[in-house]
Amino acid sequence: MRLVLLGAPGAGKGTQAVFLKERHGLAHISTGDIFRHNLKNNTPLGLEAKKYMDAGQLVPDELVMKMVDAKLSEFGENDGFMLDGFPRTVPQAEFLESKIKLDGVILFKISDEAIVKRLTSRAVCKECGAVTNIHEHDKCPSCGGELYRRDDDNEDTIRSRLKVFHEQTEALEEFYRARNLLLEVDATGMPEEIFARVLELLSK
Ligand code: AMP
Repeated sequence: MRLVLLGAPGAGKGTQAVFLKERHGLAHISTGDIFRHNLKNNTPLGLEAKKYMDAGQLVPDELVMKMVDAKLSEFGENDGFMLDGFPRTVPQAEFLESKIKLDGVILFKISDEAIVKRLTSRAVCKECGAVTNIHEHDKCPSCGGELYRRDDDNEDTIRSRLKVFHEQTEALEEFYRARNLLLEVDATGMPEEIFARVLELLSK
């Protein structure tokens, strides 16, 4: 199975990807994680991407597509995966369409205000990448690892990221609806409840 997880930043794509990986054995390809990994290792790609990420802007299409192209070439014909955070623009979606056949696009729907609330309290585990709430935990509830706040999870940058989502990424809803690939899910509530909705959608 090859899926795209679509939705605003903070809609819960990464959290659901972890569940889907466990349940369906799908590889998780997150373009944001690849950029953060590059940045941690001070690669030219990471340093270039940082300029855009810190401002809540999108990294230019050409750079992202080249990186995704390299990533996709690691997978065989029959390997399943989920793309999380890619595509984010129509040219990226057209590029993806020219490369692979998708089985579905899950759209996580949630209001901007709920997202701001979620992201201003988001913490991520340094060890296992689990996402949790900074007000509820001071260590990772899954593995006990140290938690950190993402640089771009401050209110100003969150608002910029949401603006970019509405201006550049939301058009993908129509793009995929027109191709009969869109599966819409209510992304409010607890992660487990949302996952139950995702599984129901995928079983249809
Ligand atoms: P994410 O972890 O998906 O929220 O991505 C973090 C940041 O990485 C975004 O705000 C962008 O600056 C950049 N980024 C990730 N994926 C893409 C993409 N498909 N196109 C452009 N920029 C991206």
